[in-house]
Amino acid sequence: MKLAGSTWGASANTLRSSALALYYSAAEYCAPVWSRSAHASRVDVQLNSTVRLISGTLRSTPLPCLPVLSNIEPPALRRKAATDKLVEKIVKHDSWPIQPDIFNPPLLRLTSRKSLWLDLQPVDIKSRWRHNWKSAQVVSSQLVCNPTIRQPGFDLPQQQWSLLNRFRMEQGHCGACRRKWRLTDTDLCCCGVTQTMSHTVESCPLTKLNGSLSRLHSADEDAVSWLTSYGS
Ligand SMILES: [Zn+2]
Repeated sequence: MKLAGSTWGASANTLRSSALALYYSAAEYCAPVWSRSAHASRVDVQLNSTVRLISGTLRSTPLPCLPVLSNIEPPALRRKAATDKLVEKIVKHDSWPIQPDIFNPPLLRLTSRKSLWLDLQPVDIKSRWRHNWKSAQVVSSQLVCNPTIRQPGFDLPQQQWSLLNRFRMEQGHCGACRRKWRLTDTDLCCCGVTQTMSHTVESCPLTKLNGSLSRLHSADEDAVSWLTSYGS
C-alpha cells in the first residue's frame, strides 16, 4: 500500500515508523550473518527508495542525505550495530558453542571471505555517522550540523516537508535541474537568470525568503508559510 506521493501522504513520522516495522525488519533479518557479503549493498537499493519516500526527495539526491532526512541510521551502520550486539551476547555466554568459533577461529582459507571474527571491534554508530557526514562531499553538509537528530520540520505535512528537503539538498523542479533531466530546453527563471533551487530561496527577487536557506532549514513560522505559498 502506498502511504505517500510527492504532494500528499502520511507525515514523515508515520512513514518512518512504517518503514522500520515493514521494510527494515525484513531487510535486516539475520544481518550479522550476511552483512559482510559483497552482495549486502544490493539490499540498500530497496532501503534507499524507502528513505527517499520518507524524505520526499528525488532520485538525484545524494545518498548520504537520505538517512539524515529520514532520521534512520545508514544501513551499513545499522548492520554493524546488530553484529556488535550479537558479539556482545556471545562474549557473555561461555556455554554457547559459537564462542570458541569466534575467539579461536579456523585459519582463513579464502581471502575473499570477511568472517565475523575478523572485525570484533565495536563501533559507536552515532559518532561514526557524524564523522561520515562531515567528510561527505554533499551540498548541505554545512547546513546540517548534527545528522543523527530529527531535522527541523520533521512534523510538517508531507507537501511542505518534501519541498523543504528538496531546497535543502538543491534537487527539485527548478529550471537548472529540469534542464539537466531533459524536461525543458531552458533553465531560466522568470527574473532572467539561471533558476536553481538556491536561486529561488536566496536571490530571486520574485520568490526569495528573508534569511535565505538557513532560515528555511530552521522551518520556523515564516519559513513554513513561505513553503506553503511557494508550493501552491
Ligand atoms: Zn528568479
